[in-house]
Amino acid sequence: MKFCGNCGKELMEGALFCTGCGNRIGASEKNCLIKVVRLKKVFGCAIPFDVLIDGVLVGSLSNGKSLDYYVTQGSHVVTLRAIEKDNNLNIMFNETNKNVQIEFCVKLGVLTGTPDIKNVTYF
Ligand SMILES: [Zn+2]
Repeated sequence: MKFCGNCGKELMEGALFCTGCGNRIGASEKNCLIKVVRLKKVFGCAIPFDVLIDGVLVGSLSNGKSLDYYVTQGSHVVTLRAIEKDNNLNIMFNETNKNVQIEFCVKLGVLTGTPDIKNVTYF
């Protein structure tokens, strides 16, 4: 059973709008997946990368690890943070693009390393 995230009214199965408050369900629900995957690499494997979504730290990825984070539809900023450089990605979610996988690996820099985005794929 699902409930409106805005007013708490019980929702019909598959409802797009809440009959209580008119809230658009798909747009307010955190049903869009951001999957961030750190590809395995031998060099630079000890460098940690923090992952921020809309400026909020959601985790740190070590070599070969991934994390899942759910957001609402609309535009979100995914930041991969390393000591030398931040990498920002604008990800847009809508009714047809609800899940995204971001793959990155380490690109060795002068002092440590920077995140190198390899693929951004909706699935
Ligand atoms: Zn409602």
